[in-house]
Amino acid sequence: MSSLFPTFARYPITLVKGKGSRLWDDQGKEYLDFMTGIAVTSLGHVPERVKNALVSQLDQLWHVSNLFYNPNQEKAAKLLTDNSCADAVFFCNSGAEANEAAIKLARRYHQKVLGNGRYEIITFTRSFHGRTLATLTATGQDKVKEGFLPLPEGFVHVPLNDLAALEAAVNDKTAAIMLELIQAEGGVHEVDPAFLRAVRELCDRQGLLLIVDEIQTGMGRTGKMFAYEHYGIEPDIFTLAKGIGSGFPVGAMLAKAPLIPAFTAGSHGSTFSGTPIATAAVAATIETMLLEQAPERAAASGELLIGKLKEALNGLPNVVEVRGKGLLVGIECAGPVADIVAALQHRGLLVITAGPNVLRLLPNLLVTAEEIEEAVAIIAAVLSEQAAALSAKQ
Ligand SMILES: *Cc1c(COP(=O)(O)O)cnc(C)c1O
Repeated sequence: MSSLFPTFARYPITLVKGKGSRLWDDQGKEYLDFMTGIAVTSLGHVPERVKNALVSQLDQLWHVSNLFYNPNQEKAAKLLTDNSCADAVFFCNSGAEANEAAIKLARRYHQKVLGNGRYEIITFTRSFHGRTLATLTATGQDKVKEGFLPLPEGFVHVPLNDLAALEAAVNDKTAAIMLELIQAEGGVHEVDPAFLRAVRELCDRQGLLLIVDEIQTGMGRTGKMFAYEHYGIEPDIFTLAKGIGSGFPVGAMLAKAPLIPAFTAGSHGSTFSGTPIATAAVAATIETMLLEQAPERAAASGELLIGKLKEALNGLPNVVEVRGKGLLVGIECAGPVADIVAALQHRGLLVITAGPNVLRLLPNLLVTAEEIEEAVAIIAAVLSEQAAALSAKQ
């Protein structure tokens, strides 16, 4: 009998060791990891450079609070601003906290810097922004809200890629529009680039802030360091977590210069914000990503993976579509995929789902062509077997 809350539906596997793209369970069985702990271990398991940075920081200093200067935090922030459109960074400990910080910054900018009292944030159906009360309210899926009423005020949802609905939702209380550029948890749905450009123009015209949730799409995942780089737009605020620390829990909220005065001393904070250890992990992760050209490799490997999947799954009646960008890839199936995930695990391949009918593949950004071939062969075998079993039943 476990002493934990049963919040997580766990697979019957206990993983005890990892290296690169491989994981091992307590029975000694080896797995090829195409889920990276939900887009977190983007440099593979126990990446050497990040491990060394963590080990040497563990020997020096763990925590002093943000009442003192912290060189690792400055270094990690500078790496982020040097490599993005942002001018300032606030570190936190998770994606939900990064989005909370973004929502707070947007409200405070309007209320304290501009003095216009705006507070409403428009988000999109099928989106996912986290599990705190504000971020689950921002999330465009009812399942995360059940039993948590009352929800905080100030969030409005419209369908993605529907400009008329978005324009109709803007009013004199609107502070910001917030979106994922690829809805990952929601089923691997990419924003329409023309819609995104129209959203940017709408924000400029109406004085709204554009918040991009890059928690899953950022840090090289889609083939650019940040997904917004694909679309020729820049957000005013964006958020990171998941892949930013190679598995060390850390998040970040980044914004452009005009937003900086909104977060005055004491207006926002967190005890653990960017500890020496957390920011050692962030700095080493970014340095390794730049050195290894991880985003470029993710772009090339993503093309290979999507191409091979399309080829291998072509004509299977149980496969609806293969889609994605970089190494954020979805395989939409004709029915629920829970059994498929289990069958893949049985054959030594770990993947996750994105909604009931979509398999989500999130290999590390340094995955090799051989590993991609291996994964595609296993997926094709399992989906072909399912197709054969389904047709035998009819
Ligand atoms: C995972 C995720 C979050 C929440 O991050 P946590 O670290 O679980 O709080 C928010 N937005 C997106 C797009 C995510 O993928």
